[in-house]
Amino acid sequence: MIRTYVRYNVMSGLRSALEEWTGEDLADRSVDDLAEDLAELELVAGLIEAERARRLHLFRAKKGPDIHGYPSATAFLAHRCRIATGRARRLVATAETAAACPTVSRAWAAGDISADQARRLLEAAETAGEVFASAEETLVDIVIPLDADDTARAVGYWLHTVVEPRIEDSRRGVSMSQTFNGMGRIDGWLTPLAYQALYIAFDTLTAPPAPDDPRTPRQRRHDALEDLARNYLENTDTPTVGGERPHINIVCDLQALAGVAGGRHETEDGDIIDIPTLRALACDSAVSRIVLGSDTEIIDVGRRTRTIPAALRRAVIARDRHCTHPGCRRRARWCDVHHDQHWADGGPTNAENCRLLCRYHHTLLHRREAAARQDTYPTQVTPLQRGPPPVVL
Ligand SMILES: [Zn+2]
Ligand SMILES: [Zn+2]
Repeated sequence: MIRTYVRYNVMSGLRSALEEWTGEDLADRSVDDLAEDLAELELVAGLIEAERARRLHLFRAKKGPDIHGYPSATAFLAHRCRIATGRARRLVATAETAAACPTVSRAWAAGDISADQARRLLEAAETAGEVFASAEETLVDIVIPLDADDTARAVGYWLHTVVEPRIEDSRRGVSMSQTFNGMGRIDGWLTPLAYQALYIAFDTLTAPPAPDDPRTPRQRRHDALEDLARNYLENTDTPTVGGERPHINIVCDLQALAGVAGGRHETEDGDIIDIPTLRALACDSAVSRIVLGSDTEIIDVGRRTRTIPAALRRAVIARDRHCTHPGCRRRARWCDVHHDQHWADGGPTNAENCRLLCRYHHTLLHRREAAARQDTYPTQVTPLQRGPPPVVL
């Protein structure tokens, strides 16, 4: 009973201290005071994290998750505390390592090191194993005056002296996932060789940037990755799948091709592709027509034809040589042939109406086009229609 009283007292003290902060009128707060506030908030957040780690360890040691009906502490944190599962798993790992590293925990709880510094040290403890204990005090002393980035470097160098860098081939892997709007997420670990190969490929594809190229290095790497994949798919030497070279298959109806929302525009796996991307892809691609009956029964399949014939492509490349966007000099092999007036809108496929654009500027142009046409889009979302003949690109 007394224990319950103390717990509520401490927690409500924390809460009411916080309420004093959140209730404060900040209009007249000076920049210097705000700087102090931010440093103080980070310190307090770090102390709270340290305390959570301490209690989480104890909660597990006392079989708390089991008693509360959860298969694991991670599941408890995810459900009861609404923490994303991945982060919950890391919190549990941190709490367990912290319990085995008393000097790090003490420095963290005292605010001598930040939460980021503590995490870096604890990760090193996990990697280094038993040798960490003999170096723990020295390492904490070394990192106390450092910022988080220098801490990571210092700890990284120490790790190199005690752990023979093992090439963990089994850790290699790439995970991919897609969000509802079609944006994809890639995350993973590469072997040193694979990393070097990709790094050099990116370096070759991204350099040198045009002077007015607004893309960040991250964005340029993204575009390079896309170039790599699309050129691989279009390369004649690639292996065949089911008698055809692998490629991006998109199913859409004529309405979507014409830039009007409300129809069908998706990959053959059913992932939705946004309309400007669809129109950019359709600009320079192979198209085959599939006519569906009312029951989505296939009535007719047309022959696959390139929207840009090979001879015309050669002529456009000979004329333009590189991306025609002002200031961009990406070479023809990284470019699409773009129709100034889209063929889906009745534009002719001839040299006058076609020009080279790199993938980045090509998609950008179709996005701008979509933004300019926005007023012609139906304001009401129409239900997904079945029926009109989809076109497979
Ligand atoms: Zn285009
Ligand atoms: Zn370009």
